[in-house]
Amino acid sequence: MAQKFEVNEGKFGKFITSTTSLSEGQVICKFSGEPISFEDSLNLGDKESYALQIDQKYYILLQDPDCYFNHSCEPNCGLNPALELVALRDIEDGEELNYDYSTTMLERHWTMDCSCNNKGCRKTISDFDRIPAERQQFYLARNVVQDFIIKFLKPVAEK
Ligand SMILES: [Zn+2]
Repeated sequence: MAQKFEVNEGKFGKFITSTTSLSEGQVICKFSGEPISFEDSLNLGDKESYALQIDQKYYILLQDPDCYFNHSCEPNCGLNPALELVALRDIEDGEELNYDYSTTMLERHWTMDCSCNNKGCRKTISDFDRIPAERQQFYLARNVVQDFIIKFLKPVAEK
């Protein structure tokens, strides 16, 4: 499979841009990494943001290049439950690729300031159930929310 993106180095660290145009729904790559526990994730220091939550107590430690996709509050990609990064809209060659970290978060622990500068920027990246309902629906409708979060939300939705 031809690489659809490349890692760049900028003023604020590494980021990823597309090296080809992508169409909505296209799978860009599949994330992988070593499984680690929540406790392990706390000992990562400045690599704490490389721990991707995959269950209530489990994480995987993302490797290069998966760990260099940045967060955006209005992203052009999303991560489906199979950990495939999918284009949420048509993307031009050279655009930065990002996803919403909140779609993989339900831990009541980690938050990060956001300065993605989008109109809908939430200023803080936090757990999925704390982002606006409309935004939650947007991601749920596109199947880019992790399963353990959907299971947690379900009883609420059925009320
Ligand atoms: Zn933001």
